[in-house]
Amino acid sequence: MSSRRDFLTAFKKPLNKIADEKNEASLRPPYAKCEEEFISLCVKCGDKSCASVCEEKIIVIRADGTPILNFNKSGCTFCQECAKKCDLGVLSLENTLTSQNINAKFVISTKDCVAHNGVVCFSCKEPCIDDAILFNGLFNPVIDTKLCTACGFCLSRCPSKAIDYVSLPIKKEQI
Ligand code: SF4
Ligand code: SF4
Ligand code: SF4
Repeated sequence: MSSRRDFLTAFKKPLNKIADEKNEASLRPPYAKCEEEFISLCVKCGDKSCASVCEEKIIVIRADGTPILNFNKSGCTFCQECAKKCDLGVLSLENTLTSQNINAKFVISTKDCVAHNGVVCFSCKEPCIDDAILFNGLFNPVIDTKLCTACGFCLSRCPSKAIDYVSLPIKKEQI
């Protein structure tokens, strides 16, 4: 009866543990300084931090007190509120390299994606306002890394947890 749903469920993994582990590493909010300066300048504001003003609730506080991103429920709208909240400029609108892109590379697993396995699914395409997810007709979506801002909105929409990312810590010479 619900063969499509059964198919999607069969593909679904219990938890996006890979993404959680990577978040623990260094997926910083937008507008961030390089990782070296981030660690030395962030004063770990706690309840009054950038995390408190993120309407999408994607900023979480790492064990060391610094903010990182978690895309398991939503994505970044680049609303600038986290940067405006950061008085020390660790997150700053002047950090132009990181003002429109988050430090991550997103990919779709051809093994886990149902559209790579004969099932029609556009769940990731709809939230991608940058049109960075390219389909070949109905199938075989890929992420165009030139268009992708790493906003993260597609990740939680995928019914088969086929979207993942690699975080790319920002180096001093890039800023
Ligand atoms: S730009 Fe807005 S949505 Fe993105 S992390 Fe900062 S506060 Fe959250
Ligand atoms: S493909 Fe990139 S730009 Fe599009 S929703 Fe996913 S992370 Fe955002
Ligand atoms: S949401 Fe996108 S990546 Fe996920 S299964 Fe559907 S087509 Fe594939």
